[in-house]
Amino acid sequence: MRFPPKVPHPYISSVMFPPAVPNPDVVLYTQKEMDVLVEESHNALCPVVAHCATNRAVKMAAEAGADTIEHAFWCDQETLTFVKKNNCILVPTLAISERLYGDNFKYMLKKTLKAWEMDIVQACGGDTGTFNHGENIREAELFYEAGIPIEHVLRSLTYHGWLACGDHRCGRKFGVLMKDFAADLVALDNDPRVDIKALRNVDFVMKDGKVYKENGVCVA
Ligand SMILES: [Zn+2]
Repeated sequence: MRFPPKVPHPYISSVMFPPAVPNPDVVLYTQKEMDVLVEESHNALCPVVAHCATNRAVKMAAEAGADTIEHAFWCDQETLTFVKKNNCILVPTLAISERLYGDNFKYMLKKTLKAWEMDIVQACGGDTGTFNHGENIREAELFYEAGIPIEHVLRSLTYHGWLACGDHRCGRKFGVLMKDFAADLVALDNDPRVDIKALRNVDFVMKDGKVYKENGVCVA
């Protein structure tokens, strides 16, 4: 399908443009449909990503067994207990929330910290395309601003990213330095445990064992 479609399509519109005020909470699938969708996907060894924002939608997706929940903007604590109970990974997409929600954004930082306190696995992932490429690191900075310790933020950037992609089911091993895992590395000029801004100064980049940047200079 072309994106964006040349001719507006009513069904696509219903997915792309939720009501301005998401109350009543309109969901696209029934619980039965979500259950079957996840069951079929897992049977085919495919992870399931649920793109949802509101309490009702997140609870339903979690109960269906979705592997990851993207956004979960308006999740309250009760909903987070569903996420935890069903071992879902949360991808809070804070960098886009910061741009969208003004004063209400503070709530999302609190929710992200709460989820961390509850031991919910969270991954740093963005709505790629909703902000400039190269600004992705903002997501990690916001995890840190939420109050999550830097070492845990780094894990959310790396290993949890792999978990969120379906771990062994995604066809590629990355996110940790281990035998048989992809040699994807970055080196920083400074220690991010001393100053979070170090994440913005990437000195060295290796992907799949090939060096792309060395001493701060692009070499590939
Ligand atoms: Zn999205």
